[in-house]
Amino acid sequence: MIRNSLLTGLFLSLAVPLAAQQAADAVAPEAGTDGSFTAVSEAAAAALAAKEAGTPVAAQNWMVAAANPHAVEAGARVLRDGGTAADAMVAVQAVLGLVEPQSSGLGGGAFLVWHDGETGEITTLDGRETAPLAATPRLFQTDDGEPMGFFDGVVGGRSVGVPGTPALMQAAHDKWGRSDWAGLFDEAIRLAEGGFSVSPRLAELVAGDAERLSRFPDTAAYFLPGGMPLAEGDRLVNTAYAEVLRRIATDGADVFYTSDIALDLVRRVQGAEGNPGVMEPIDMAIYRVKERPAVCVPYREHEVCGMGPPSSGALTVGQILGMLDGFDLPGPADAEAWRLIGDASRLAFADRGRYMADSDFVPVPVEGLVDTDYLASRAELLQGDDALPEVSAGEPEFDHALNWADDQSLEFPSTSHISIVDSYGNALSMTTTIENGFGSRLMVHGFLLNNELTDFSFRSHEGGVPVANRVEPGKRPRSSMSPTIVRRDGAPVLVVGSPGGSRIIGYVTQAIIGVLDWGLDVQQAVSIGHAVNRFGTFDLEIGTPLETLGPDLEALGYEVNLRDLNSGLHAIAITEDGLLGGADPRREGIALGD
Ligand code: GLU
Repeated sequence: MIRNSLLTGLFLSLAVPLAAQQAADAVAPEAGTDGSFTAVSEAAAAALAAKEAGTPVAAQNWMVAAANPHAVEAGARVLRDGGTAADAMVAVQAVLGLVEPQSSGLGGGAFLVWHDGETGEITTLDGRETAPLAATPRLFQTDDGEPMGFFDGVVGGRSVGVPGTPALMQAAHDKWGRSDWAGLFDEAIRLAEGGFSVSPRLAELVAGDAERLSRFPDTAAYFLPGGMPLAEGDRLVNTAYAEVLRRIATDGADVFYTSDIALDLVRRVQGAEGNPGVMEPIDMAIYRVKERPAVCVPYREHEVCGMGPPSSGALTVGQILGMLDGFDLPGPADAEAWRLIGDASRLAFADRGRYMADSDFVPVPVEGLVDTDYLASRAELLQGDDALPEVSAGEPEFDHALNWADDQSLEFPSTSHISIVDSYGNALSMTTTIENGFGSRLMVHGFLLNNELTDFSFRSHEGGVPVANRVEPGKRPRSSMSPTIVRRDGAPVLVVGSPGGSRIIGYVTQAIIGVLDWGLDVQQAVSIGHAVNRFGTFDLEIGTPLETLGPDLEALGYEVNLRDLNSGLHAIAITEDGLLGGADPRREGIALGD
């Protein structure tokens, strides 16, 4: 075993990515909203009332939790009719792409974690967007090789990766579906043709992004009709989207990648005025979903399973929990608990920045990063009383020598999470995205195109050493999405995930600790205030009791920021007494079950 030690120490500085991430954090295009929503049915109204009261929704047979009541109801209908979690996901995703278009849709990508009720196996599907074959490491650099401004890269065709969500919907249905494929799109088509009421959240986000949305005619016509941002309660019809869904329903997702839909998508990307992309029809035609083994890490007699590379989610969540496994974590009101969680997170983020990327392109020490001995050695760094003055990447076991420079990627919070348990004992956890709120702002056939390629590091090298997460043709950008299933003795006990850029990792970790360590119910675990530390600064959620921890954390040596922390956690606990669901009060979603 050769250890990666040659250049250790040369590239310890996290200062540049930290500064860049902090600049990114100043803007959050998919900001938190108050979560108010007019319910669409009695069951949804009851679920919203439960969320507002802070109590979980209970059920016996099946449950679905997602970011919008229309989408949840579409999934509930499928489950009620005997569909599986995979079937329900297709219906939920089809509706989300309509009613929450800024967060996910046909033009984006997703990761799915599946626990099979029959076999007990756990696996993952990677439907991540992919860089076109003509993309190079210089995609997001200016002529002199410097990283371009973040939004200079985002808006337009340059940032658009080949979408994976349609293929993922198809792959999940092919593997685990029982319902008739075409029928899964009925509710989305009905809403798209008949119109739906613009939610408070969508209206607020459109108003906040009006300038960027006005840059491309199709996008402007949809979101800013007559030049005015859509308002809450407006009835919005999307016949182009209904038509695409109808074609996918009839011909399968293949039609998305091989027909005029793909050609129009490529034309839109190449023709984006001022910032064209390099996608070709061949990039669409060769897109494939990849089945990958789940990454599972032991924690408190459970195993926490999630998505491995190209996501950094399960590795980073797993590293944090693995380091904390040897410590008691007093409750959320205790600064010592947050010191441990915060510094374990900083250590994990240092490894994430150095080693994690698409493992089909760069060797990633997956096993080494979550090896119990390695994490125990990293956990020794947590033995002190104060904040760690400095944090740097460790030296996990590598089965070959390789050195990477620390990455410089920015991530903005948007995205959506779907948790489903069906009556066959299957559990599904899927995080789905078009990256930035409204993605690249390009729209075609009634859906928005992602800007996922900006999840690559804009800087390709540092001091002559390549960055693992640099752009390469056909590569998938590193993600933070952390769809998770926690199991005990091989049976699922918690299904959870969240949007939130790289803070996803903190939100999901905290929800797991909330349930396993602090004995919170699943609604409490998603509702309580967040504290997140990735690069040294502690972000405390404004307006929550955690605000009062600021002085204690400062006394330990942390810089503290109070800010909105816009998670969108959707969680289902599988208990001896049945299913309990929790939906994030920061968004418009609900949990529904029977
Ligand atoms: N693009 C991000 C990722 O894949 C997700 C963005 C978000 O959650 O807001 O990690």
